Amino acid sequence: HTTDCVIPEAPASYAFALPEVDTDGLARSHLFYQSRQRRPMLDRASGVHMWDVTGKRYLDGSSGAMVSNIGHSDPVVLNAMRAQMEKSTFGYRLHFENAPAENLARFVADLCPTGLDRVFFVSGGSEAVESALKLARQYALAVGQASRFKVISRYPSYHGATFGALAVTGTASMTAPFAPMMHEMPKIPAPTCYLDRDSLTMEERGRRYADMLEAEILRQGPETVLAFIMEPVGGASTGALVAPDSYYPRVREICDAYGVLLIYDEVMTGAGRTGRFLAAEHWGITPDLIALSKGFAAGYAPLGALVAPDRLVEPVMEHGGFIHGYTYAGNPLACAAGLAVLQETVGRDLPGNAARIGDQLKARLDGLKDRFPFIGDVRGKGLLLAVELVADRETMTPLPPEKMAAARLVDLAYERGLIIYWRRTRGGYLGDHIMVCPPLILTEDQIDEIMDPLTDALVALSAELGV
Ligand code: PMP
Repeated sequence: HTTDCVIPEAPASYAFALPEVDTDGLARSHLFYQSRQRRPMLDRASGVHMWDVTGKRYLDGSSGAMVSNIGHSDPVVLNAMRAQMEKSTFGYRLHFENAPAENLARFVADLCPTGLDRVFFVSGGSEAVESALKLARQYALAVGQASRFKVISRYPSYHGATFGALAVTGTASMTAPFAPMMHEMPKIPAPTCYLDRDSLTMEERGRRYADMLEAEILRQGPETVLAFIMEPVGGASTGALVAPDSYYPRVREICDAYGVLLIYDEVMTGAGRTGRFLAAEHWGITPDLIALSKGFAAGYAPLGALVAPDRLVEPVMEHGGFIHGYTYAGNPLACAAGLAVLQETVGRDLPGNAARIGDQLKARLDGLKDRFPFIGDVRGKGLLLAVELVADRETMTPLPPEKMAAARLVDLAYERGLIIYWRRTRGGYLGDHIMVCPPLILTEDQIDEIMDPLTDALVALSAELGV
């Protein structure tokens, strides 16, 4: 600190005690989220572990919501944040540029495919998707294609909670209440090839699902279609759905043929989760726009980014600029955290670790099929893995919804100190799955810390399901 900058002691009244506790032992809360569900109060977290205030330890087997890629309390990141905090925590982008934002943008551009070298910062995944949709639209206007406004997406899918992102989200239970308030966009089926019972090979099925995009573009009128948005590996909506290899290049080809922009929503898959920095790299695809968040700052700050090529950004700049922006965009503290997170991610080859440990963990999860007949499918890439629960593996018939099997499994695992993630997909295919997505720093030895409580929880679930 300089001598003219004396930081006063915080008044004692600013120090919060633990919240008052209700008779059930949980904090009396003024907060609300989606539902009345309550969870224990978090105390601290380090590496792949978290502790609640009673001292109980958990293994973070879902990295929160596939966020904490580099684990908790990483000292390198904490130091970078501390150093930035001493300098400045906020500078409004219309008044100042800041070094962490500039440096992070350059670092991200270097990690993305050639040409994708312009970065627009946001505070989360929904904002990254909103920004992609708005930049795409403004680009179309700038190049004289005002008739293009439709963004085709897939169902099931999840792209965010805000109205634009929700309009391209293919999960009926999330979109239905708001349908009259937004312009819902056309959807095609996600490539759930593993469910198909036809005589085609997987590669043929992949092409068949990709061709559905072409059919939809033609149905809508190509001159009205602005973009296609997809999660390269599905998130919680599909349970780590990976398409056959044939799907990805065919989608790129179709988008090119009709002048439709290809948006990869890598909010969950990006920053190394699937075993490469971007999931797009597995198939050598260069999307036109990429949305990033979650592992991008790995929970150290609310941060996300839209990555775009000059070719899209410059025409927009020439036509009056991007009519879009958030107050917290390029926040120096968030960007310092993001830069340190990505330096750790790349420097420690965490994508490589995700690929290696992911293969081992997936094989172990696959092995559970022998013991538990209600495990229908194990899928995913890197450390974005899912286990689907079914009534019958042969036919992939879902379990009765009222059993809430995946939700029960998550609770049974939680009781045993293992955090996993679930969704019962109500849009499209009716199914149950859990997501097993630990931090990318997970070691080989720690695989048992997932498998042991998970196996125990599956035994308990078997008893409950009566199988
Ligand atoms: N896109 C994808 C693929 C996601 O998984 C999510 C979050 N689950 C979002 C967008 C929205 O991100 P956020 O919750 O940070 O707004």
